[in-house]
Formats: sequence, C-alpha cells, structure tokens
Amino acid sequence: MVMNDYTKYTVGVLALQGAVSEHIAQIETLGAKAIAVKTLVELQQVDALVLPGGESTAIGRLLHSSGLFQALQSFNKPILGTCAGLILLANKLEDDEQPHLAKMDIQVQRNAFGRQVDSFQAELMVKGFTEPFPAVFIRAPYISAAGYEVEVLAKWQGNVVFAKQGNLLACAFHPELTSDNRIMALLLEQIKR
Ligand code: GLN
Repeated sequence: MVMNDYTKYTVGVLALQGAVSEHIAQIETLGAKAIAVKTLVELQQVDALVLPGGESTAIGRLLHSSGLFQALQSFNKPILGTCAGLILLANKLEDDEQPHLAKMDIQVQRNAFGRQVDSFQAELMVKGFTEPFPAVFIRAPYISAAGYEVEVLAKWQGNVVFAKQGNLLACAFHPELTSDNRIMALLLEQIKR
C-alpha cells in the first residue's frame, strides 16, 4: 500500500462505459479526490484521468457522442489507460479501424491472449517495483510495437503489457481489481512532475 500526501489532487475516471467504481475506490485509498467524468465540465476539474477497461469500441463511440473525443485529444495532463483504455490511447490498432484517441506511440493487438482465454491472473515483474504486481487480465490486449519514446514497464510471456510515454501510462490488465494501488500511485506521481 502506498500512502503519500495526494489529498490536493483530483483524479477523474472516464465514466461512459466500463469498470469505473473500482478505480474510484482505489484512487480514494491514496487519499486523492476521485470523480466520475462524463462531461467537459467534469474533465476540466481533474489533475489526471483514468481511461478504464470495458469495451473500447463502445467507449470510442460514446466519446464522440459526448463531445469528449476532441477534448481528450488535446488533454495534456497525466492519463492511465487500462485494458480498453490502453486501446483508446494507441496510435495504431492491428486489423481494426474503430475510433481511438491516438495519443501514444504504440501499436496494439486487441484480445491478444486468445478469445478462449477469457481471463487470468499473473504475478508481473514491473520496472521500478520491488515486489511483483498481481495483474488481472480480462480479454486483454497487448502492445505489439512501440516507438522510441515509449518506456516498457512490464512484459508477460514476452509481450509488452505495461508502458509509459511522458505522462501517459498504459496497462493491458486491470490494476483496480486488486488491493494493490502501486500503479494508481504511479499516475498520481505524474501529477507532481
Ligand atoms: N477486449 C476489450 C476491448 O477490446 C477490452 C477488455 C477490457 O477492457 N477488459 O475493448
């Protein structure tokens, strides 16, 4: 468990579709304020944003109809994209034309671990962590290629599943589904910078 003084920070969780409440609860374990973001006004209140897991096709569509798509393209505060959120951050999707924000120089394969393998948990070695991270993968993507500005933070079976580019963090798994808040703490650390 990480405990620093994050009380002055407000972290938004994009709440159009997907796993929102678990992220909100985890942000609160760090002492920061968490809000669900569905509108531009709410987006303007946050110091950082989580793009949650869910169905990236649906979230992408809802981003357009809510008017948040363009706002997020120019949003330059820290972002943590998890699973579907990672897909939305990617510059390029393999074999897929669905709308995405294209903020990170990564190429992503959706449902990359095979549709038959619906979900699994792995003890993941993460760069900078002294203990492995309990990573829950649910119909997860992986990063199949990354630009030189992208730092790889974790791989699973040789495939990149966690990466950072500037103040953008993207993981293929669901850090909000464990009591381990170290990845959320990494997002909060980006605000300080
Ligand atoms: N398979 C989903 C997609 O492609 C992502 C799954 C998830 O977010 N857990 O959008």
